[in-house]
Amino acid sequence: MNAIEAKTPKPVMGLYDRPMWESISARAMRLQRCRACSAWQYPPGPSCPQCLSCELEWTEVSGRGKILSWVVFHRQYLPAYPAPYNSIAVRLAEGPTMITNLEGAMPGADSIGRDVRLVYVTMPDGMVLPRFELAD
Ligand SMILES: [Zn+2]
Repeated sequence: MNAIEAKTPKPVMGLYDRPMWESISARAMRLQRCRACSAWQYPPGPSCPQCLSCELEWTEVSGRGKILSWVVFHRQYLPAYPAPYNSIAVRLAEGPTMITNLEGAMPGADSIGRDVRLVYVTMPDGMVLPRFELAD
């Protein structure tokens, strides 16, 4: 099976995940933000981990972040991700950390701390994923 035929693994859709994935499909990713203390949170949940308020609102992120860590896989684990492919940990400007992929280049020795920006990638099967590219 090649990447064109491969299905992108579907998101794990927990109780609180649907609004985030709908915003990603609309290419305007939203995460939960606490109305009481303004803290952002990811992954989505029922209440704010900072102040325990249940008053959360879905708010669009800036799309800015920095690479915290990275790895390049040289073995294929999923049909939709032929090797080599990368995973990166991005600290969003809003605070939460996401595990995602770097577009346009493989990460390397100078990647930690690099500024990245959010891009939306349409996979061959039509699924839209949030990924990042170098911003500088
Ligand atoms: Zn809060």
